[in-house]
Amino acid sequence: MAANKKILMLPGDGIGVEVMGEVKRLLDWMDRKRQVSFDVSERRIGGIAIDTDGVPITDATIAEGRSADAILLGAVGGPKWDNVAFDIRPEAGLLKIRKDLGLFANLRPALVFEALADASTLKRELVAGLDILILRELTGGAYFGEPRGITTLSDGTRKGINTIVYTSPEVHRIARVAFDLARKRGRRVCSIDKANVLECTKMWREEVIKIHAAEYKDVELSHMLVDNAAMQLVRNPKQFDVIVTENMFGDILSDCAAMLTGSLGMLPSASLGAVDPATGRRNALYEPVHGTAPDIAGQNKANPLAMILSFAMMLRYSFDMGEDADRVETAVNKVLDAGLRTGDIMQPGRKLVSTTEMGQAIVAEIDRLAR
Ligand code: NAD
Repeated sequence: MAANKKILMLPGDGIGVEVMGEVKRLLDWMDRKRQVSFDVSERRIGGIAIDTDGVPITDATIAEGRSADAILLGAVGGPKWDNVAFDIRPEAGLLKIRKDLGLFANLRPALVFEALADASTLKRELVAGLDILILRELTGGAYFGEPRGITTLSDGTRKGINTIVYTSPEVHRIARVAFDLARKRGRRVCSIDKANVLECTKMWREEVIKIHAAEYKDVELSHMLVDNAAMQLVRNPKQFDVIVTENMFGDILSDCAAMLTGSLGMLPSASLGAVDPATGRRNALYEPVHGTAPDIAGQNKANPLAMILSFAMMLRYSFDMGEDADRVETAVNKVLDAGLRTGDIMQPGRKLVSTTEMGQAIVAEIDRLAR
């Protein structure tokens, strides 16, 4: 029996609740069949928390997240809360927990399942078998740098300013995450910058090189300018293994990579904090990339696979249960190969299933694989 693995579950709103239900099904299977018990608690975030607690996340929930080994989050928001005050809108709960827990490393895998290769807007041969990981720095750069703001000069001219700032420790910690991840994958890291124009990213490149030379000689390191990287991602995405980049470049490139896979309902993500040297543990939050899908919420139509794949990432990165994570991902592959589809990924000649039917099929497949 594996010991104390503490998970905080935050289903949130809309389809967040429905897709989390399918993770509960998986947890239940692991408890019964793998004798892996998780210590799970469930709390509110987003609209449901505004309605009940008056804020999108309470301090008690943040504290619980800090002491958990991993957080699983569904999605937050919906039309009901579109007009609440800006500082207590549902997304503020999400931003608060990311910030308070220091989740600086955002991992977005772009994985194309064979059965869905035709769903991409790119040609099948470019994306079939694609498996890349974009690592975006999440708490620095232009989105947080000072000075910032909009001022009006004495002659009436308006001036807008944002500042891209990184310090070398911030670059070192994200570079280490990239190299550590590459060691669990294809051992290749491509660092993206604009070193020919922006001094801040010239420093970024130099510091990544330092960390590589000192600690990660076994991983191959390359560098690419961001404009070329955007082009290469759609020209030949399979050339990459792990891509690491600063906040704003990562924001743009990760959405570009997401489109390679063709469907929002298939995309998981993870946000990681720093490793505590004393305990070896790190704060971590796993969530699908999609939102609460108000148009289909409450109808048992949502695709639970992005949430289930986020759960697999949790097994791999927070609990070092790579074999179990592989089994979940293989099950997803097999269920798709067998032709089961929720509405968002439906294709002619395939079988349309509900959220719960998809979840049940995944668990049945995992059960078969584990025998
Ligand atoms: P969305 O991701 O919720 O939905 C976009 C479209 O994709 C919709 O047509 C939806 O039906 C579909 N879709 C998304 N996920 C799906 C799934 N798992 N299965 C099947 N179809 C799926 O984005 P939106 O419509 O722009 O936003 C809706 C609400 O969600 C808003 O309140 C927004 O603020 C919030 N939101 C939250 C998060 C988050 O919690 N991380 C992220 C994005 C949007």
